[in-house]
Amino acid sequence: MRRIVIVGGGYAGFTTARELEKGLRRELRRGEVELVLVDPRPYMTYQPFLPEVVAGSVEARHAAVAHRRHLRRTRLVDGSVVRVEHADRVVVVRPRSGETYRLPYDTVVVTAGAVTRVFPVPGVAEHAIGMKHVEEAVAIRDRLLTSFDRAASLPRGPERERLLTVTFVGGGFSGVEGFGELLSLAHDLLPRYPEIDATELRFHLVELSDRILPEVTDRPGRWVVEQLERRGGRVHLGTGLESAVDGVVRLSTGEEFASGLLVWTAGNAANPVVATHTDLPVDRRGYVVVRPDLRVGTDDEPVDDAWAAGDGAAVPDLAVARPGALAVPNAQHAVRQGRRLARNLVASLHGRPTRPYVHGSLGVIATLGLGSGIFQSRGIVVRGRLAWLVHRGYHLLAVPTWERKARVLAVWLTAAVFGRDVVSLASVQTPRAAFAAATTPDDAPDDVRAAQDDAQEAVA
Ligand SMILES: Cc1cc2nc3c(=O)[nH]c(=O)nc-3n(C[C@H](O)[C@H](O)[C@H](O)COP(=O)(O)OP(=O)(O)OC[C@H]3O[C@@H](n4cnc5c(N)ncnc54)[C@H](O)[C@@H]3O)c2cc1C
Repeated sequence: MRRIVIVGGGYAGFTTARELEKGLRRELRRGEVELVLVDPRPYMTYQPFLPEVVAGSVEARHAAVAHRRHLRRTRLVDGSVVRVEHADRVVVVRPRSGETYRLPYDTVVVTAGAVTRVFPVPGVAEHAIGMKHVEEAVAIRDRLLTSFDRAASLPRGPERERLLTVTFVGGGFSGVEGFGELLSLAHDLLPRYPEIDATELRFHLVELSDRILPEVTDRPGRWVVEQLERRGGRVHLGTGLESAVDGVVRLSTGEEFASGLLVWTAGNAANPVVATHTDLPVDRRGYVVVRPDLRVGTDDEPVDDAWAAGDGAAVPDLAVARPGALAVPNAQHAVRQGRRLARNLVASLHGRPTRPYVHGSLGVIATLGLGSGIFQSRGIVVRGRLAWLVHRGYHLLAVPTWERKARVLAVWLTAAVFGRDVVSLASVQTPRAAFAAATTPDDAPDDVRAAQDDAQEAVA
């Protein structure tokens, strides 16, 4: 029996595993392969829903597609691969509990994605939240809701101003979508907070280059900036974040302000496991080098028994005429690459020829907040409510499994009637605080009281 180990069960890995499971039913002989998927998370994150999780339009749990529910013939390993030693056909697995161990394989599929790109800007590591994972999206939403609650009971002044100031760094897709959705949530909250005036909201989007959304052309890009600014956001183009020490944002323009929420959406970097802990070939940025059929290596130097796809792989884009073009790291590609990879892997096991991965982009689509969006496919640009509806329709069709589609649709329909939920559950971060408070008398020892204070501080 051949053991196929899939490293990472996100878009590309989850799709590969599902397709291989289908292959098991149709083409592969019983007992021919054993599928193993290693991921420290028990679910695939549907990242395009994270901006809507931020806004409370999609339930956090619905952006997570459970491996165990949808991968019935795959052995799931709860841990991280810390090294791929392909020469020995071994991955080193660090489980979430227990000792690190070596897991031998016959074939490896590397789909560990990318990580958030971080620059050594002082204060960022201490204060910023990323937006790649469900918990980050939930924390961003809870932080804004908690800030509204606290600001509403404070007199006007620096602390109230800080709480109502939000800064996003990075004007790519996730930054613009997250910023637009959070701005939209903040405006929706205002009627419920008569103590807070719309003019008190300070939403900053900081982008180093002179435009946002690099995937859309100039005019629609400018329209997006206008839309965000019309709703009270400030877009700082050609501006860098110099420092965020103690939560005080200092921009390269010299502007400085205290920001209660700092969200870091400055793009992707290679996953360190792939970039530096493997003997598989990687390019100068640390992405796995693959051939057009997604086998690792080059046409001249193919690597046997190794495949890769998704954000962590440098996949040639044959749909683009430019020589050397690489597929853009997005879900549209990752999911299709996962499918192609699985089919090619089965073909190669059966001695059949593989096929190159070719996918012409369907265009780009982004939400800018409830009821507003932008869609561009070549020369066609759709803006506003229609684009937002297309965005929702597209993602409803794209989110894997009927069960997820039904749950997401149910939340959207409920919200259309009753509005979105506006309660912060930041206290879930410190579940023992209430219990400790209930069981601890006022004359509790200092260390117990200090723990309670810390817990409350963390919630704040
Ligand atoms: C906020 C946001 C919005 C987006 N919106 C869109 C959109 O609208 N349209 C679009 O096309 N794309 C969008 N994208 C991009 C898209 O989500 C990614 O391109 C896609 O998820 C890449 O798939 P992947 O499988 O390569 O990586 P991922 O989906 O990131 O999966 C990687 C998996 O590997 C696991 N992993 C990591 N390291 C290890 C390790 N050492 N060992 C084992 N497992 C590991 C991770 O836990 C994860 O499950 C968005 C991204 C973000 C962050």
